[in-house]
Order: sequence, then C-alpha cells, then structure tokens
Amino acid sequence: MPHPNDPSLRSFVPVDPASDFPIQNLPYGVFSAKDGLTPRVGVAIGDHVLDLWKLEQDGRLDVGDLGVFAGPTLNPFMALGPKLWSRTRARISELLRHDNPELRDNAELRRLALVPMTQAKLHLPIAVAGYTDFYSSKEHATNVGVMFRGKDNALQPNWLHMPIGYNGRASTVVVSGTKVRRPRGQLKPPSAELPSFGPCKRLDFELEMGAVVGQRSPMGEMLTEAQAEQMIFGFVLLNDWSARDIQQWEYVPLGPFQAKAFATSISPWIVTREALEPFRVHGPEQDPVPLPYLRQMQPNNYDLQLDVGLRAAQMKQSTRICRTNFKYMYWSSVQQLVHHASSGCAMNIGDLLGSGTISGPEKDQRGSLLEISWNGTEPIELPGDIKRTFLEDDDSLSFHGWCQGDGYRVGFGEVEGTIVPAE
Ligand code: MN
Repeated sequence: MPHPNDPSLRSFVPVDPASDFPIQNLPYGVFSAKDGLTPRVGVAIGDHVLDLWKLEQDGRLDVGDLGVFAGPTLNPFMALGPKLWSRTRARISELLRHDNPELRDNAELRRLALVPMTQAKLHLPIAVAGYTDFYSSKEHATNVGVMFRGKDNALQPNWLHMPIGYNGRASTVVVSGTKVRRPRGQLKPPSAELPSFGPCKRLDFELEMGAVVGQRSPMGEMLTEAQAEQMIFGFVLLNDWSARDIQQWEYVPLGPFQAKAFATSISPWIVTREALEPFRVHGPEQDPVPLPYLRQMQPNNYDLQLDVGLRAAQMKQSTRICRTNFKYMYWSSVQQLVHHASSGCAMNIGDLLGSGTISGPEKDQRGSLLEISWNGTEPIELPGDIKRTFLEDDDSLSFHGWCQGDGYRVGFGEVEGTIVPAE
C-alpha cells in the first residue's frame, strides 16, 4: 500500500490543486452539521468534511475503541498514541483513494459521511489542557529587544541558551471566527505619573504556530528529543493576541500576565506531524551549542509559508501585511517540549505550545504590529487611505499557512478574528 504522503495519490473526492486539504494532508477537526447531531471528529478533504464517527459506526474505521470519534474533542483519539494515529491516517487515506470502491461506490455511506464544508460548523478541536507560549524567533526577540532596551542589550543573556516561555491561559483559547473583545487593563504610558484602568489602546496580534501535545509525560521525568517528537500530534495556526500597553506596565519582573490572557485564537484543523514530514528542514545553526539535553540531531523545523491579512471594516478585502516562514525559528517545538519537561514538569494530552511570534530577517516578514509599525512610530498604509499602528475596533485579521509540495499543498486553512469594542 502506498504511503499516505505519496504525492501521486488522488482522491475520488474532487480537490482543487490550490486547496489546503488534498489527500496528502487529512487534518483532524471537530465539526457539527445541519443534521442536528452533536459535534464530532472529522477530517478535511477538499471542500468536504469526512465524518469519522459515521465511518466508525459503519465498521469502516476501527481504532479498537468504539466512540472515540463521537465526542466534541480529539483528546480521546490523541490518547491512543502515535502508532494508532499513523494507522488511522493510513486507513482514512485508503478509504478516500480514487481507485478504492469501498466508499467511492457506496452512495448511501457517502451521503452520510461526506459533509460539504459550507454546511459544517467548526469547533475548538481539543480540550486545551494547558497553554504555554514561547519566544523562540531570534529576529522577533531582537526587534523587540532593540525597541525596549537598545541595540546593545537586545537579546537577554539567557536567550541563546534555552527556549524562553511563560505559562498562559488555556481557558481563553478559542477557535477561528470567534470575536475578540478589546481587553481592559492597567495602563501607564511613560508620560503618566500614575496608572489608570481602561480599554487597551495598543492591541496587537502575534503570528505563531501551535504544537498540540497528544501524549502525557510523567511528573519528574525528562524527555529525549525522540520522545518529545513522538508526543506531538500536530500543529495549528495560532494568534497570540497581545495588549502592548498593558504588557509594558505589568511585565516586570514576572513576564506577561493580563496582556496575553484575554484571547488566543487557533485554526480549526490540526495538521498532523506525519503530514508535515516531507517538509522538515534544519533550523538556523545554534551558536553557542545548546546544553546536551537540548541538542537535536533531527531536522525539527518545517518549511511552512505563512501570511497575515488585515481588513478594516470599510475595506472590501484584506491586505497582506506580513509574509514569512516557520523555518526561521531558532528553537524548534521539539526543543520547547524537551525544555518544558526538563524540570520534571508533567505534560498532558491537549497541551498547546505557542511557538512565539514568527518573524523573518526581512522587514516584510515581521509577525506583529509592534514590529511592523516599529512600536507605533511607522504607521502602515492600507488601501482607501487607512493607516494603522495597532488594531482598531472591527478590524479583522486572518493568518494562512501551507507547505508547498510538487503539485499539491499541505495547508492549515485559516485562523480569523475580528475585534469588537470593549464594553
Ligand atoms: Mn506570543
């Protein structure tokens, strides 16, 4: 049987060459349809969602645990482990192939199991156990450091020795399309003598990828590179919304708190680590060489193109304000996970690791408005004479991401969020 990543595979379900969801991808999500049934697990194929619960009920898909796809999260499936993830993906690929009559020629099952994307509502695909956000792009950390501390102290002394991170909030991770209310908080511009409380005036986005942890690690135990890699189920697009004015006043000495706690948006489809395998690349050379526990032998970065569109309420379509690539990250998701567990911290099924803002070496590759507008000093110009330094109410942001194969792309769809006014 051909490998599910084989570029020559075709599905009987029509897939546009520009689609993010060819048979080589098969990302997992949670959806509901107009049939009134509760949210359940599906896989994206072209413009359709394949209902895995229907396939399971029909005896076409057996993971040894009936009902694993019937619920509103992927956590029970992730708990089954990497061997089952791989076997299930191979079976789904087989069922969708153009030369397999099993589903192709079964009109009744096709009608039940293939839901047009336009009729599907997509939900948050995992129960987020914990959310940790990192700061692993050297370009981003340098840009922010130059703005706040000057060129000579841009990178803190620890930055080149470990992936810097903080524990964020799982409770406000939301799926694409969820409106984001402008946060309120304590503000103290440098010119003010005392802080005040009110709506954030410097609301920003952060372009990130999220690694979804699909296996536990016991408290007290460290992870090897290979163990950490096997624990990662897949990736999503992630917008780590950030209130820069709240952040600037609160972050000393313990790091971000309320500035990042009000919302984090993720894309609804989890692209599996296995589907991304053909696009693995080595990250930038790490100098100094990391301590032994953080050294990696494998290429743990991905050649994954990313772009960000911004649309103000009066604009008909969004304008691209950033185009970059996940491959620039200095610390990989595997190194982040190894470091996270290194103290003895237990990792859980459904943990979400934000990569940190992904900025590239060029000016148009900056992954936040803080960098794009250089701390508000260089406004960007949008069509219709609209200027932006930070986000205004009713602005909508969308991220896209994809790996380009030969004649197909393994894509992530979209993560979108629109700002609504503070109450
Ligand atoms: Mn972040």
